[in-house]
Amino acid sequence: MSTSKWRVVPSDLVAQWLEVFDAAWSQSSVRVGGVCPNCHERALHHFYIRHKMLNEWQSSSTFEGEREGVHRQKDAADSIEWCAHCNIYNYVKDQGAPPRWPETFVGVENGGNHTVASVIDAVMNHIVKYGDFRP
Ligand SMILES: [Zn+2]
Repeated sequence: MSTSKWRVVPSDLVAQWLEVFDAAWSQSSVRVGGVCPNCHERALHHFYIRHKMLNEWQSSSTFEGEREGVHRQKDAADSIEWCAHCNIYNYVKDQGAPPRWPETFVGVENGGNHTVASVIDAVMNHIVKYGDFRP
């Protein structure tokens, strides 16, 4: 799989695309229900790359304000949404990770510099093996 295989969601489909993924945001699954606005297949997926965790001092703080700050940032993440059938994707910066999203899996490092294709490859390989993010 090379980067050139993937293209961004066509602009005339963005509104529909966002609607499908907004509805799926809280699902604890890499697979997203609903059909792709482009090819109408059920092949939608999403993945959240968490930002790097705060350091020990911050996360053990006893000050309420700081704890709240930690809490707010705990689920900070970027997301990649894609259709595995027609190979279009949407990259969303600072999209919070849903509740119950795993800390990390499939070897995608939190906060790292990833290419869209490498993340999608890793996730697709993982779900071929395990079905979803929970083996
Ligand atoms: Zn599609």
